Amino acid sequence: MESFNQKFKIYRNLKVFLRICIAISISFILTRFDFAYLEAFFYDLRFKVKVVSPTSGLIETVSVDELSLDQLKREPEVKDHIAFLKKLRTYKPRNVIYTIDPSTLKGSNRDKETLADLGEKMNIIYASKIVPQKGLEENLQLAYPYNRWNAMPGPRTRERNIFANDNVTRRMIVYGFDRPTLHTVVAQQVRNDKKPIRGLYDFLGTTQVLIDFKPTGTYPEHSFANVLFSETQNFKENQIVVVGLNELSDSIHYIRTPFSKSLLAMPTNEMHANMLDTLILNRGYVEAPKSINFLITSILSLMILFVILKVRPVKGLIAIFCLSMGIGVIAFIAFQFFQYSINMVQPLLAIFACYYFFIPYRLIVESRQKWSYQRENKILHQVEELKNNFLKMMSHDLKTPLARIQGMADITLNDGGGLSTEQRKAVNIIKDSSQELSELITSILDLGRVENQGVKLHLKSRDINDIILKTVKGCEFSAQKKNIQLITELEPLFSVKIDEHLIKQAITNLVENAIKYSPEDSKVLITSDEVNNQIVVQVADQGIGISESEKEYVFEKFYRSKSVSNKDIKGSGLGLYLTKYFIGLHKGEIQVESEESHGSTFTMKLPLDLNESTDLNI
Ligand code: ADP
Repeated sequence: MESFNQKFKIYRNLKVFLRICIAISISFILTRFDFAYLEAFFYDLRFKVKVVSPTSGLIETVSVDELSLDQLKREPEVKDHIAFLKKLRTYKPRNVIYTIDPSTLKGSNRDKETLADLGEKMNIIYASKIVPQKGLEENLQLAYPYNRWNAMPGPRTRERNIFANDNVTRRMIVYGFDRPTLHTVVAQQVRNDKKPIRGLYDFLGTTQVLIDFKPTGTYPEHSFANVLFSETQNFKENQIVVVGLNELSDSIHYIRTPFSKSLLAMPTNEMHANMLDTLILNRGYVEAPKSINFLITSILSLMILFVILKVRPVKGLIAIFCLSMGIGVIAFIAFQFFQYSINMVQPLLAIFACYYFFIPYRLIVESRQKWSYQRENKILHQVEELKNNFLKMMSHDLKTPLARIQGMADITLNDGGGLSTEQRKAVNIIKDSSQELSELITSILDLGRVENQGVKLHLKSRDINDIILKTVKGCEFSAQKKNIQLITELEPLFSVKIDEHLIKQAITNLVENAIKYSPEDSKVLITSDEVNNQIVVQVADQGIGISESEKEYVFEKFYRSKSVSNKDIKGSGLGLYLTKYFIGLHKGEIQVESEESHGSTFTMKLPLDLNESTDLNI
């Protein structure tokens, strides 16, 4: 038994271990794939729902927009830019960043020289789209005469062949081939601290960071024409001014952002503003490393495993829904408050993968359990039938021949003058043994009736003392055999409604036990009294007693204490079970107090006011 239990334990632990391994393997496989398009959806969604990040308030944009074209009636030319820059100079900008290539502007050579001069004096930075490799820095330079301008790499990125492949701009280059881009240089001038840039990661010879995007229109935008023509401009001094195009004519001057995938979602000058602020405020997003994503996915897989195998289906569904929402909330909190981006798709897919993997497993286990219950039920049913048949056989086929044996033994003893002493002894043994067998059959038949709930109470008003006296009389013979004195102390009692037959059987069981488990020459005391509206009958003996550990079991079916089985005292272990049952039918109770080797006292209590309605087929 021990080794079976041990094997079963090992098997169970192995099963649990295997399930955990499967759940973790699912997580491992899932975290090997990046599900870029879906992940990008959840990444962008977090931008859309989160509170917009603060700006440094240091950046303004100027756009050559539709209004400018309308007022100038043409594209701005070199001379317009000269006038614009002269006006802009009055606001003492900290930096002027040009995203427009001045060499594409129309104008006379003299004007071009003037613009080149002005740009040099104002230290304009030209944002080049290229990031030159080492040694090819020349490529950055603008064509003559603008080669005097300070040209720096200010590239934009787009997810074209990598990640989501959806042309959206989500990241920026901070260092290209070990050289800082214009955003890095300008941000370093503004920032006083020397803290390292958050969220840096290496990518194809560049160092990049995820941009902290704000919706289009967050940064103040001035029309080129307004700066040029109107007297009053609410331009602040000492600002970083990004000059660019916003003419809605060519998508090259626009980017798609996490907020919108439209072709003209954000003009590039506003993109530069977003990039600059990401570095100025050091709010680049940090991507969770693969190990963290694997950990989160594994924890969720294990939780789902637990939910599926241990929780009822409806609660399980609710739990799965809550877990899915939970991962969303955690990812959002990490994004909003800690600029930390956790992968959401892998954990969500793990939830569904584990669900679809383990649900069929659960169904198989359940159907196997159902099948084995059904089989057990069938066997129980057969056993029940067998028991009923056996009981029927007992009552008819065993009791009748037994009665005949007892009758014949009586006749032989009564007129058996010719019997020798030995023969008389033998016939007496036949008689005693058949009596024992008859009592056993009666107990088993009673048990059968009890278990089939076929015991019916026939209540009649009776004096319990009369029943006690009758019982004592019936037991006198066996008491005398052991020289046991049966003493009765009976208080006068009111008549109560009881089933005489069952109560007599209960008291008989107690008195017979007292005689059976007492030594020769001892005393058995039977008392009756009325206490608190209850009739109390006690049977006390000076017998072998019952050990403390066995006391709670003596009223159980077929229970016999070890000491009596060893002493070869005969019995079925049914007497006290039936006694308790019969007393229970009368809404009474029975208890035992006992000390080993010093005797036992059984106390039975019956209510005085047992109602007629108890006459049920219990
Ligand atoms: P049995 O047929 O064995 O007497 P019972 O159900 O009447 O079955 O009793 C159950 C067990 O309780 C007995 O086997 C015995 O161990 C213990 N028992 C019952 N009555 C007494 C008693 N008066 N003294 C000691 N032990 C008792």
